[in-house]
Amino acid sequence: MGRAFVYVILGGGVAAGYAALEFTRRGVFHGELCIISDEPVPPYERPALSKGYLLPEAPARLPSFHTCVGASEERLTQKWYKEHGIELVLGTHIKSADVKRKTLLTAAGETISYKILIIATGARSLKLEEFGVTGSNAENVCYLRDLADADRLVNVMQSCAGGNAVVIGGGYVGMECAASLVINKINVTMVFPEAHCMARLFTPKIASYYEDYFNSKGVKFIKGTIMSYFDMDSNGKVTAVNLRDGSWLPVDMVVVGIGIRPNTSLFEGQLTLERGGIKVNGLMQTSNSSVYAIGDVAAFPVKLFGETRRLEHVDSARKSARHVVAAIMEPNKTDDFDYLPFFYSRVFTLCWQFYGDNAGEVVHFGDYSGSTIGAYWISKGHLVGSFLEGGSKEDFEAIAKATRLKLAIDDLTELERQGLGFALAVSKNPVRSPPGNVSAPSLILERPLYAWHATAGVIVAASVAAFGYWYGRRRRRW
Ligand SMILES: Cc1cc2nc3c(=O)[nH]c(=O)nc-3n(C[C@H](O)[C@H](O)[C@H](O)COP(=O)(O)OP(=O)(O)OC[C@H]3O[C@@H](n4cnc5c(N)ncnc54)[C@H](O)[C@@H]3O)c2cc1C
Repeated sequence: MGRAFVYVILGGGVAAGYAALEFTRRGVFHGELCIISDEPVPPYERPALSKGYLLPEAPARLPSFHTCVGASEERLTQKWYKEHGIELVLGTHIKSADVKRKTLLTAAGETISYKILIIATGARSLKLEEFGVTGSNAENVCYLRDLADADRLVNVMQSCAGGNAVVIGGGYVGMECAASLVINKINVTMVFPEAHCMARLFTPKIASYYEDYFNSKGVKFIKGTIMSYFDMDSNGKVTAVNLRDGSWLPVDMVVVGIGIRPNTSLFEGQLTLERGGIKVNGLMQTSNSSVYAIGDVAAFPVKLFGETRRLEHVDSARKSARHVVAAIMEPNKTDDFDYLPFFYSRVFTLCWQFYGDNAGEVVHFGDYSGSTIGAYWISKGHLVGSFLEGGSKEDFEAIAKATRLKLAIDDLTELERQGLGFALAVSKNPVRSPPGNVSAPSLILERPLYAWHATAGVIVAASVAAFGYWYGRRRRRW
């Protein structure tokens, strides 16, 4: 025996929260929707965990950052779910799924059945052990994926004031944690195998801008090497990090941010996988028509690039969540997901945003000894990606818009000379879409650079730009 629902969302993270809000907006009936999460709290804005949650003074704490405050929408507390007749099954791990029978089995042995399942299981942190290193369980070694990790990190940090930390990994979790540790007056050394930080996104020039800034705050970088083993004391606490190059670093604590792995295991052998995630179509529907997937776990077609991608960013989780609910509740009125990839980070007082794809040739712009820097990526003659640090609302809107338009670029030197001015000029000369034309970027593709303003028939993704503004300028803590 067990419970049965029309809609079940498996996973209680960012995507689940945004999907719940969208379900209520589209008229879900009381008792139809259930969210199952192995976390003990309703969905929250996960990015807060490496930012406001780690502040030494007035840190962000729940319930202040439940979804959907990150998009300036309602804050969905436990009471909200109750009032809207949504069943929250918290602290409950699903240990198996049967998509043919349409059932999920909880760790406690309950069967929960559904008509439609939305997989929103996100991802888990990769562990050192997966790279042949032991010691993850030591009491002063921290990861950061969920609230329990964040509480542990806060406790360890508080016990190490004035001490030494090693951050292993140079991605955004490593960078944001390093900044938070410094703000908490802990001496930080970052260790990673790549030649520079944020290697998957940053160019060497962009990375060096941030590394210089981090250096100025006291962060040291050891690049091009990895840790090989920990020294432990008799209590099982890590006392030193030994590196493959033979050096060692005495530590009071370690933070590990070496990447994530999508939580697909329940569905392996049952659903088609791609790019490490669950493959979906433009309606977020998997290879089983009753099962959808959203957020970090979903590999979806990015129309703009004509490719399937799996993104690990909060904006994609929010928007794919809204889209899947539209697709489920109003299938005849819902087009394929048309998403411009967007990612941001905030460290110290810095804030950057990235739109699109970091493929092809790079054109840097701005004053790399100042506070506003940027880059464009040009692939096959078109602008496909834009990066900006330190911009204004209009600046972030402009790079989003220019990237969405996929403008043709034939003169990289001139683009470099114009820099941010190029995107601003694009956005100040909006060209409108003729009625019914939704694939207008193609109209502009073959035009030479700077001829764009004379081109009619371009639809502009204003909502993307608005999001860019929100992220860039509001000094929120999540
Ligand atoms: C510390 C941190 C900082 C971040 N900062 C940024 C940022 O600055 N900018 C940005 O763009 N993105 C950021 N992200 C990424 C962003 O938070 C994720 O992209 C987003 O949370 C993905 O949402 P999701 O709903 O797909 O997955 P999640 O939010 O991870 O939610 C998945 C949920 O499913 C649950 N679950 C999984 N398996 C099971 C199971 N078998 N049974 C029950 N429950 C299960 C999990 O416990 C979790 O609650 C950050 C992530 C982290 C961890």
